[in-house]
Amino acid sequence: MTPPVILVVEDNERNRKLVRDVLGFAGFTVIEATTAEDGVALAVERSPDLVLMDLQLPGMDGMGALRRLRETPATASLPVVAVTAFAMKDDRERVLSAGFDGYLEKPISVRALPDQVRAFIGSKEVAE
Ligand code: MN
Repeated sequence: MTPPVILVVEDNERNRKLVRDVLGFAGFTVIEATTAEDGVALAVERSPDLVLMDLQLPGMDGMGALRRLRETPATASLPVVAVTAFAMKDDRERVLSAGFDGYLEKPISVRALPDQVRAFIGSKEVAE
């Protein structure tokens, strides 16, 4: 069985390394992009099982990237989870109403992340 592929779109190198290390150790295949534009291109190319999308990115932001993914037939139904430092309730609602499949707050919990990712992938499988 091939490991699930997780696309991490994150401009901050330290955050990217943390997610790569934690998910890699948990048995996921992690692919990475540092900009929304590269992330969208990689999503089209690799069709990952889940996208973890930082909202604050240089150039196009995570909201813009989500719109682009939803507009693109190949990626329209990919599960995309927003990762953001905005911890306020209004932001959470704004993110979910924008069409993200979920929401993770920074700082990322090293202990919780693998189960959170499994849950996001699992809920997608149930929905299919
Ligand atoms: Mn960022």
